[in-house]
Amino acid sequence: MNQPLIAFENVSYAYPAEEGQEALDAVSGLTFNIARGEFVALVGHNGSGKSTVAKLCNGLITPQTGRVLAEGLDTAAEENLFAVRSRVGMVFQNPDNQIIAAVVEDDVAFGPENLCVPPEEIRTRVDESLQAVGMYDRRLSEPHKLSGGQKQRVAIAGVLAMRTDMIVLDESTAMLDPRGRREVMETVLRLNRERGITVLFITHFMDEAARAGRVMVMHEGEILLDGPPREVFAQAGALHKAGLELPVPALFADMMRAEFPAMPEGILTEEECAEGIFELMTKCGE
Ligand code: ADP
Ligand code: MG
Repeated sequence: MNQPLIAFENVSYAYPAEEGQEALDAVSGLTFNIARGEFVALVGHNGSGKSTVAKLCNGLITPQTGRVLAEGLDTAAEENLFAVRSRVGMVFQNPDNQIIAAVVEDDVAFGPENLCVPPEEIRTRVDESLQAVGMYDRRLSEPHKLSGGQKQRVAIAGVLAMRTDMIVLDESTAMLDPRGRREVMETVLRLNRERGITVLFITHFMDEAARAGRVMVMHEGEILLDGPPREVFAQAGALHKAGLELPVPALFADMMRAEFPAMPEGILTEEECAEGIFELMTKCGE
């Protein structure tokens, strides 16, 4: 089946304007597909339209012009809303706003309970989902005792328990410390790789975006760049226009190269940067 998981067809959306003001498009003329199994990072400066795209994906808002299809279902059709929401799950920015139950496993059960899943099946799904995010050992913990990264992993488990095909994470690492960010990123990469979960990962950390299969750059409600990280991060001019930096390992490699011209070009990830430094050291010893 080649149907895209998400299809935006010439989508525009404007939030209701304040009285006496003109409504401006938050996103305009967006056309793109996300295929089943893709890991797409969405980046752009504040106000560029990323959260609007996220909310359009699962019908939290619907376009004023154009259409959004989730697995072929028009998100604007009332009768599709339940099906759309149970296929595309969302994880938001603030870990403290997403957990409602007093015990981790009850929180993960909340989604499937709302979908009227039978209790036996809920049990299975909760255990599986907590295992998938590495939080099974903490299933009886009180959420407020968890770190930010752990809370976000519980929120991800809550989405998995609804058996969604896609997870949209809207800056879900923004409030975390580096360790928490890494935990969440690794978890989502693994779910994508091992379970084929489709991911839309909105972030303002370019080194996270560099690890996606595809990067979309938004600027003033439009898509400025869309392609593999290596191609996107080679567009220095367009990135500058969008107010974005290169990933930290690429910046660091540039600094190194200023001092040591033999530092390899085209470095994007920490692994490549470490490899480059290793090559330099080897040359030093020759
Ligand atoms: P991002 O997530 O990239 O920061 P958003 O999608 O939140 O961008 O916002 C895109 C545009 O829509 C911005 O100009 C923002 O001010 C506007 N906007 C976002 N949410 C609302 C809202 N609830 N009401 C009015 N305008 C909004
Ligand atoms: Mg946002």
